Amino acid sequence: LDLRTPAALADAERWTAHNYHPLPVVIADAEGAWVTDVDGRRYLDFLAGYSALNFGHRHPGLVAAAHAQLDRLTLTSRAFVHDQFADFCHGLAELCGKDLVLPMNTGAEAVETGIKVARKWGYQVKGVPAGQAEIIVADGNFHGRTTTIISFSTDPDARDDFGPYTPGFKIVPYGDLAALAAAVTPNTVAVLLEPIQGEAGVLIPGEGYFAGVRTLCDDNNVLFIADEIQSGLGRTGKTFAIEHEGVVPDMYLLGKALGGGIVPVSAVAANRDVLGVLQPGQHGSTFGGNPLACAVGAAVVRLLATGEFQERSARLGALLHERLGELVGHGVLAVRGRGLWAGVDIDPALLTGRQAVERLAERGVLAKDTHGSTIRLAPPLVVTEEDLEYAVAQLKAILA
Ligand code: PLP
Repeated sequence: LDLRTPAALADAERWTAHNYHPLPVVIADAEGAWVTDVDGRRYLDFLAGYSALNFGHRHPGLVAAAHAQLDRLTLTSRAFVHDQFADFCHGLAELCGKDLVLPMNTGAEAVETGIKVARKWGYQVKGVPAGQAEIIVADGNFHGRTTTIISFSTDPDARDDFGPYTPGFKIVPYGDLAALAAAVTPNTVAVLLEPIQGEAGVLIPGEGYFAGVRTLCDDNNVLFIADEIQSGLGRTGKTFAIEHEGVVPDMYLLGKALGGGIVPVSAVAANRDVLGVLQPGQHGSTFGGNPLACAVGAAVVRLLATGEFQERSARLGALLHERLGELVGHGVLAVRGRGLWAGVDIDPALLTGRQAVERLAERGVLAKDTHGSTIRLAPPLVVTEEDLEYAVAQLKAILA
């Protein structure tokens, strides 16, 4: 048997920084919810690029939009306007119910943009004294990997030895409204939260928390920034996870699925009184809002505007959670999540999260552990009922 996987793994290990610990699978092609490795083995993708592949691998409509744009125009920089720009930004603003959009590339850049806009808004609109703006975040957060963002991470791996750190952030326990209220001062410009903490293990705060956050922000003239980079764009059965809470944030941070799994596309959406604080020369990106990104992003927005993917996620997510619930007490301690997104706490007496995802991979299901014995399941929203049943059967088998 002459397998290509071992050599491909060794080559990747030899030539790259070891900032990831990937599963030993070398993927060569993919379609929908399935990927094929260099040795022809097929796997169900239950990570979906950390939700960047909500519409599946190589969604035909998105690939067609990318191809068509590749044949016309790929980059102008924002020094000029191109003919795909307004269409994407208009569509996304309407999807978000906001006045304005600011396109960037990666999730971390959307978060950085949100922080900069909130601070400028704080100084220019709210009247916070120069250099005093505070932003409140939650412990266990994951907002990206830039120096400023890891400054307010509570994960030692993400943070240690990367200082000096950016000041101006206060960390409170996630889901604790009283602690958040106690942290607000006249200099607070924003509260930045994930509606569901993905990397922390798909954590959902208690009922009423976000409604309380909204009221607190309104009462104190503070912006509520929802990081929907992983939770948004259909993943939870609604366009935005925060909709489950009946709450509208002042600013949405979007990324991942916005690029259809084809190109990095992120964005900030907010009303004119907030995003309008930026003037020419104060923020930008060479690739942000490029023609290829806008063509794909506009196609993504059109897919979401139909509601089809949100409906699939809600319907199939109910099935996924029903099946996973049956495993509680049988090797699974707890299951959390919404729509096609689940955090599964494996009994640590049986397997670590890493061992669990390695065994799942051997059985043709790709997933990712988070912390300890928690694994997260997030298939593309194009997954079928049979695929879901297959994946849960494999999870059941490794716990037996
Ligand atoms: N915010 C959240 C909630 C995320 O899950 C991520 C990525 O996992 C990011 C921000 C950062 O996105 P990116 O990796 O594109 O910079």
